[in-house]
Amino acid sequence: MGQVVLNCGKNTINEMKNFYEKQLLGKNPPGSVFSAKISGCTITAYQSGKVLFQGNTCEKEAERWKDSALRVTPAKSGALKSSSKSTSAAKGDVPAGIGQLSVIGSDEVGTGDFFGPITVVAAYVKKEQFPLLKELGVRDSKDLNDEKIIEIAKVIKDVVPFSLMTLKNEKYNQVQRAGMSQGKMKALLHNQAILNVLKKIAPEKPDAILIDQFVQSTTYFQHIKGQKEIARENVYFSTKAEGIHLSVAAASILARYAFIQYIDKLSEAAGFSIPKGAGSQVDAAAAKLILNKGRESLGSFVKLHFANTDKAMAIAQKKRK
Ligand code: MG
Repeated sequence: MGQVVLNCGKNTINEMKNFYEKQLLGKNPPGSVFSAKISGCTITAYQSGKVLFQGNTCEKEAERWKDSALRVTPAKSGALKSSSKSTSAAKGDVPAGIGQLSVIGSDEVGTGDFFGPITVVAAYVKKEQFPLLKELGVRDSKDLNDEKIIEIAKVIKDVVPFSLMTLKNEKYNQVQRAGMSQGKMKALLHNQAILNVLKKIAPEKPDAILIDQFVQSTTYFQHIKGQKEIARENVYFSTKAEGIHLSVAAASILARYAFIQYIDKLSEAAGFSIPKGAGSQVDAAAAKLILNKGRESLGSFVKLHFANTDKAMAIAQKKRK
């Protein structure tokens, strides 16, 4: 029986869980996020980020996610035994001591949220600014609630040079329908945001550029191949990069701030509070939108290809009866 292992970020694993929603197995093996069984393949995602595809059609099934994976490893027997401690996946080529350099950091928000855009921010933080940013409370945005994010973002937006790229839902759905993967969308946005910051700070140059990793670096550059300009010099990738350099933490806070503001705008347009994430609460909210404004309105609120769209349609249909 064949098997393939992919190393994936949290967002990708959430996307997968969403994708295999109807085939989820009730029981999860220890240390796993979910387990699903489709014809010819069992998929098990672990908290460590490893996703195991087992069965006759495993290659084909894993192929679907290769673009979003951070790393692909040929599975050996026992490869998953060490899964609980292999969180350092793909720290790869980041130079030691990068945390003490002046760096452009880049991160995105919204990829796993049904409602709202993808927001990508690149931000330049000089080493002289570390004490100030720390004083302002800049750290891993996952430890901060929305209130705190807004408070910090309002200050740092005037302190660090940055560029915000917002991929609105209409455009997202349009390019997605045309066949573009989320990985490619993100790569294009990151590249553009970084180029914008490089222009803003010129002739000054950063010591390094650090992207919070969402794909393998080769895939990243494949995605942006053919772009007029490509930021390539001193570009590094790491998962959990927010913890490696304050510029990524700042970028992440600014991206989340922009995302929150956009959700507020959508809430205003909807006439009720729009939820984040991809859980059942978004299905209900989307169903409400369908009933109030019609199915066509959804495209400017949500990422239509998520499984949530069908679920919302079903809820709306039931309510109509
Ligand atoms: Mg990220």
